[in-house]
Amino acid sequence: MRGRKSIPLVFVVGCGAIMAAGIAVAQTRVSLQPEIAAPKDVPFPGTIRLAVDATDVTRHIFRIKETIPVQSGSLTLLYPKWLPGTHSPTGRIDALAGLMIQAHGRRVEWVRDAVDVYAFHLNVPAGATSLDLEFQFLSAGDGNEGRVVMTPEMLNLQWNSVILYPAGHFVRQITVAPSLALPDGWQFATALEAASTSGPSATFKPVSLETLVDSPVFAGRYVKRVELDASVPAPVRLNVFADRPDLLEAKPDHLNAHRALVTQAYKLFDSHHYDHYEFLLAVTDRMGGIGLEHHHSSENVTPPTYFTEWDKNTDTRGLLPHEFAHSWNGKFRRPADLWTANYNVPMRDSLLWVYEGQTQYWGHVLAARAGLWTREQALDALADVAAVYGHRAGREWKSLQDTTNDPIIAGRRAIPWRSWQRSEDYYSEGELVWLDVDTLIRERSGGEKSLDDFAAAFFGINSRKWTPEPYAFDDVVKTLNAVQPYDWADFLHTRLESHDREAPLDGIARGGYRLVYSDAPSDFVKKREARRKLTDLAFSLGFVVGRENKLTDVQWGGPAYAAGLTVGTQIVAVDGVAYDSDRLKDIVKAAKTNSMAVELLVKNGDRYSTVRIDYHDGLRYPHLERDASVPARLDQILEPRK
Ligand SMILES: [Zn+2]
Repeated sequence: MRGRKSIPLVFVVGCGAIMAAGIAVAQTRVSLQPEIAAPKDVPFPGTIRLAVDATDVTRHIFRIKETIPVQSGSLTLLYPKWLPGTHSPTGRIDALAGLMIQAHGRRVEWVRDAVDVYAFHLNVPAGATSLDLEFQFLSAGDGNEGRVVMTPEMLNLQWNSVILYPAGHFVRQITVAPSLALPDGWQFATALEAASTSGPSATFKPVSLETLVDSPVFAGRYVKRVELDASVPAPVRLNVFADRPDLLEAKPDHLNAHRALVTQAYKLFDSHHYDHYEFLLAVTDRMGGIGLEHHHSSENVTPPTYFTEWDKNTDTRGLLPHEFAHSWNGKFRRPADLWTANYNVPMRDSLLWVYEGQTQYWGHVLAARAGLWTREQALDALADVAAVYGHRAGREWKSLQDTTNDPIIAGRRAIPWRSWQRSEDYYSEGELVWLDVDTLIRERSGGEKSLDDFAAAFFGINSRKWTPEPYAFDDVVKTLNAVQPYDWADFLHTRLESHDREAPLDGIARGGYRLVYSDAPSDFVKKREARRKLTDLAFSLGFVVGRENKLTDVQWGGPAYAAGLTVGTQIVAVDGVAYDSDRLKDIVKAAKTNSMAVELLVKNGDRYSTVRIDYHDGLRYPHLERDASVPARLDQILEPRK
């Protein structure tokens, strides 16, 4: 954060109640804490030594020893709060424990800032040249405590979780020498370069704190490494970690699709911004899920059967293309208001519809071009996105632009009314906007130009450099205009600020398709329902049924909503017979040709009730249907580049 104004006052606290400053009652007097120094672009003198002991995997404890060069006087140490890639204040300060600080073997007391609880104030004693810190980062043991990052088989070390750093410097100006101790028999993968290794443990070459936080580690007992592109000087590797060795088995065709992802990304972006790239992939249901981008690597978790049951995991294969595309879009080209000097300055997310929206678009396009998805699977995925935003009642009050604030507003907590509250809609509604842009460029240029030209022009500058290149809205417009002249500023503002209830489907129409509904789900949706153990009736009855037959989503204003249903309601019986998803679907089908309402016995808490949904449009699942009157631009977009 920026330094707070120092106020030459004291404030008063009462017994158990905070009192307003200035109220003159008998109180304990507390001195205001010092100001937190704003970050400056000046080198931090010396090198921080950071030793992480990650051997206590059964108790999920990271033990940290850190030595920070200092001068005597006041000092503020910060725990990273605003984390790149999450676009929000997600640093797990609650998981830091046991903080003890010493100088010359003597304890140095610290005081946590009462306003910014990520800051620790202390006075360095005269003559001390370094501080020795010890603390722990306590990984969640189960999902109720947050994301599990350590299991007996693997771990995901994010360096921002295990470091305190001095306030007052840009993080690119702070040098850290990290080391990591792992259990015997484990291996690790990271974008960091090892200076030396000893068994499973390593000391890494010193790097800036910025590079360190951008270079997480996956480590584990069962590991497989696959060269995706061995070319010098920028090899790309897939590092797979699994709960069991048999889950590492991958078919050559499937690995070749990951190799094609690299070659197709190079054709698209005409550059790369790393000297090597490490996909860190855990195929697990024990470690917590993640998809997080970095310049030289990405953190990915997919289901344990990602490779071994390839056909069941179609929808998860958009993840690696998405995170890889971020090396260009997000890490190298960075929205100017999102870039921050350190991890305690607030981020602003106004351009996430480019950062995440266009990445979502390229992730899906690259999945198809690489063969991770068939063309049909890519079309089915797009049909689903189009249908979701065709039923987004919240578009009426909350613009796409306003959804970019959502990481800070909601921080990915569960929400009851997704279609009304909206969420991080800049991902997938953003994808529809970029399809709109792509097809419009193709139409207006007579097929000569496309969004691929934008990608090469915008992301393809300064190849092999990875210092972030900031951009603003006008830079996006300028590059679009250089590809194809048009009033792109107006085009984008209209879509970003719209309150139109209709879904933004122009890109699908111009792509040569139309959104239609049938009574059978696409293969893509069917497999996703099976994998996630859902029954998706979002576009018919207006709800999704999850585990224990409880509603996980109810469409705001839809038929189920009109009947009074809400998220968390359990369906007990359908037309007087115990709930079964196939039976419910049969009754919805039958109601198309009769006047009977669908009758549900439902349970909410300890109350049972009967609700009738007067719905007669049958089952409705989205598909894209070819419109032969328009060129098949969408097919061209999904074709691999030659
Ligand atoms: Zn992303």
